[in-house]
Amino acid sequence: MLTCNKSLARAVSRTTSLALSLAILLVTNQSLFAATKYAPTSVDMQVKKVSEHVYYVQGKPGVATDNEGFISNAGFVVSGDGVVVFDSLGTPSLANKLIKKIRTITDQPIKKVVVSHFHADHIYGLQVFEELGAEIIAPYGAQKYLRSEAAKERLEERQFSLDPWVNENTHLVLPDTTVSKSTEFTMGGLTFIINFMGKAHSDGDMTMLVEPDKVLFSGDIIFQERIPFVGSADSKKWLETLTHLETSGLTALVPGHGPASKDPKNTISLTRRYLAYLRKVMGTGIEDLTPFDEVYAAADWSEFKDLPAFDAGNRINAYQVYLSMEAEMLEQ
Ligand SMILES: [Zn+2]
Repeated sequence: MLTCNKSLARAVSRTTSLALSLAILLVTNQSLFAATKYAPTSVDMQVKKVSEHVYYVQGKPGVATDNEGFISNAGFVVSGDGVVVFDSLGTPSLANKLIKKIRTITDQPIKKVVVSHFHADHIYGLQVFEELGAEIIAPYGAQKYLRSEAAKERLEERQFSLDPWVNENTHLVLPDTTVSKSTEFTMGGLTFIINFMGKAHSDGDMTMLVEPDKVLFSGDIIFQERIPFVGSADSKKWLETLTHLETSGLTALVPGHGPASKDPKNTISLTRRYLAYLRKVMGTGIEDLTPFDEVYAAADWSEFKDLPAFDAGNRINAYQVYLSMEAEMLEQ
């Protein structure tokens, strides 16, 4: 019996070490594959712990092509039974680096990636998570973007401006699951509440609340310490969303850009004030039939002019709000 057990133990041990060698070979191959497939990125990416289960990495302030594309945040939540990632960063190389960082904290499989919205700085890393077999969860509206000429042109532009981190091997990833109303799922003792907001900052935005940690990932409906990117946003709907955003009881908020905040109420105030100001100034200009250039030149930008990305983004944001408010008024 003992011999039998011993030989069994030896057999198990042999099988285990064979499996282990195979696993090591596989991991080594995967790492080599990833290393050669995705250009290395030299950006300094530090993992910050927000709560017991929640971590994030913070992109640097700047325009889209600064810092090798590392300008947006991504988060991850380590449950008792797998990892949920929030947003995938702006290049496959950055996503690859993020995965390595996650691996320093847990060996659990990355099971899901929740995408706040489909803008280039949050989605070009998706293909790396797709390769791992993670389920990609996107807000309704993502398909509209993915099919658009704008998405195609943006990728081509980034393949040029962010080469080699975004290159001919970078492709857009279709979601596995589309969310069109607020929903939730559980994993390893945690609850993930997805709040679908529809068209606000983009064609489709959603946030993710992690319970019991009470940490909110807001995506780009909140910008912190930089000028928000208005792009094709519906600033009216966006502002309404912010006005109704429930922040009481949260322990922390991780925005799409900028540092996590332990004071969520204060954090949403910059984006809210900025949008409200743009709408007030541009709205008054349109009512008075004043041309955009004059409205812009006469406006007092002192509250926002020292924020990162002001020079690159403010005028175009203001112009977008001017045009969209003109359209809103014609609709009335
Ligand atoms: Zn963004």
